[in-house]
Amino acid sequence: MQTDLVCPSCEDLAMGGQTHPICKKRFGLDGLWSLGIYQDPLRSAIQKLKYKGITELADILIDITLEYWVKYQPFVLDQIKKDQGVDWVVVPVPLYWWRVNSRGFNQSSLIGQSLSKKLGLDYSEALKRTRYTKSQVKLKEKDRRKNIFDAFAISPDYTLHPKPYVLLIDDVWTTGSTLRECCYVLKKNGAKKVWALTLAR
Ligand SMILES: [Zn+2]
Repeated sequence: MQTDLVCPSCEDLAMGGQTHPICKKRFGLDGLWSLGIYQDPLRSAIQKLKYKGITELADILIDITLEYWVKYQPFVLDQIKKDQGVDWVVVPVPLYWWRVNSRGFNQSSLIGQSLSKKLGLDYSEALKRTRYTKSQVKLKEKDRRKNIFDAFAISPDYTLHPKPYVLLIDDVWTTGSTLRECCYVLKKNGAKKVWALTLAR
């Protein structure tokens, strides 16, 4: 299941998943951590969580992620610990309310809550969707960016100010357009660092 970590900008290998210095953008992601490649058995576990509602899988997959980090990527946990004074906050990529209602839950929220509990970090649904967007699954990369543009905002009852470091959670990294767009909104609103964390890519 283990995978090498890549830079969220150019997607070439990157030490610890950190964005290469030359790939850094002002409102861009600082890094990307993924548990594995989107293939079985990880793919079927994510699909069971998402579409069959086997929500216990969120906890199980986060346990595996943490075990894996301790063993192969201690750098990841060190980063979070080192900056503990700054307070990392776990923020899930939101679903549009209509999709939450039809599915009954947001898989990214479940993953984020599990991670925050296990690492003792704060959890916040700081982002909201401002409009409905088509599923990204069948879209080409260019259309994905267009589809997701301006689709997120900071939730009105949340201020980012005291929590400038964000672990942004989604189930799968495909082209990264959703996570990049969410990061842009978070950084525009005061986040100092944003790392994307996904189960698969
Ligand atoms: Zn890069």
